[in-house]
Amino acid sequence: VIGEEVERRFGAFLRERVNPGAEERDRDARPLPTEIFLEAARIGLWGLASPVSLGGGGLDAPGWAAVLEEIAFHCVDLPFSVLLCATPRIAAALAATGRDDLIRRYALPMIRGERIAALALHEEGAEPLALGTVARETADGWTITGEKSLVTGGMLADPFLVMARDVASDDVLGFLVEPSDPGVTRTAVRTLGARSCGFARLSLDDVRVGHDRVACSADGLGWVNAFFAQRRWEEAAMLVGAMRASFEACVRGLRARSRGGRPLLDQPNVQEQLGRMVSGIASSRALVHEVMGGLARGEDLAALSTVAKHHASERAMELGLSVVRVQGAAGYVSEHPFERYLRDALAMICAAGHQDSLLREMGEQAVAALDRSDRFPNAR
Ligand SMILES: Cc1cc2nc3c(=O)[nH]c(=O)nc-3n(C[C@H](O)[C@H](O)[C@H](O)COP(=O)(O)OP(=O)(O)OC[C@H]3O[C@@H](n4cnc5c(N)ncnc54)[C@H](O)[C@@H]3O)c2cc1C
Repeated sequence: VIGEEVERRFGAFLRERVNPGAEERDRDARPLPTEIFLEAARIGLWGLASPVSLGGGGLDAPGWAAVLEEIAFHCVDLPFSVLLCATPRIAAALAATGRDDLIRRYALPMIRGERIAALALHEEGAEPLALGTVARETADGWTITGEKSLVTGGMLADPFLVMARDVASDDVLGFLVEPSDPGVTRTAVRTLGARSCGFARLSLDDVRVGHDRVACSADGLGWVNAFFAQRRWEEAAMLVGAMRASFEACVRGLRARSRGGRPLLDQPNVQEQLGRMVSGIASSRALVHEVMGGLARGEDLAALSTVAKHHASERAMELGLSVVRVQGAAGYVSEHPFERYLRDALAMICAAGHQDSLLREMGEQAVAALDRSDRFPNAR
């Protein structure tokens, strides 16, 4: 039912407005045009899961997960789905501060698709808990200095949500930095895939912002974890849709081909690869449903969401490799969509947390949960 509803409300927009030009944007590393976000807002897609009080559609998490899967299925430019989640999510976090100035100046225009927001956290070589980007409080605000190495949507962003370490308290705080602020430089970054995301490196050279630009005044890392808890299941949901689309395109591409006098689709080795793909799609979707079940039961969203993102990302990368294997040369040349799918899927190794770090996180959390339980009374 959701598939039909997404097709009815957004199908034409995705096919006619978002999909055309995807190959060229990838080739030229050109970000999606900003009009697309405005149009997505106009048809009710951009803020579909944002609170009604902010002018959004108020869709609940299970509905949004199902919609995201369908959007990523219909949309041949995966970055559109990525960007569709980030800005409304940051807007919701700003709205949660309850501050009228932040809501009017940033959150509402973000939900209307007029301002794109990007999280600027990661720094090359810095430990996550020891950010090199520092903020110093002055009489009339803050001065921020540092460098963020890879910001999704950075070439489109206004504002950046910059996470910086307060030199006085050592706490991580979040600041809204605008690209026009003196001392801000953003530079386009070339990447292997997901190129229409508008990746940027952000330099902050004694950037002065007023006290009103503090969006997160304490425990910024806690805020980032909450952001990722949401972001990870959203990524898992969109990957399910992207995997489905790639699977279908793969089967379509194989249909007319034969080897050894037998259709390729009848070859056991090809069928095995297709079976792996189907299994990866189904298990990833099942984990998204598990996250939704956990949400309804009031369980720890972060842990479930991390498992879902990790699993779906691994399956998406494997699916890309399987497609290239069964397609042969057609999987490797750029005139077919398969090689771009694989390059885009590889972004998931690091996006919203490095896959290996997520494994460590899962292990640590599982042991901690056991220690808290009755099963290991001596651990307490
Ligand atoms: C597509 C994409 C989009 C991104 N978008 C954003 C964005 O919008 N905003 C943003 O701020 N950042 C973004 N990033 C950066 C992302 O957050 C980081 O790449 C990610 O956190 C991993 O950090 P790293 O690249 O420094 O790798 P590292 O953490 O340095 O990992 C490199 C290797 O070191 C290992 N390692 C790391 N820590 C440990 C440890 N404690 N013990 C043992 N081994 C360890 C890892 O397992 C891995 O093998 C993006 C990255 C990508 C690829």
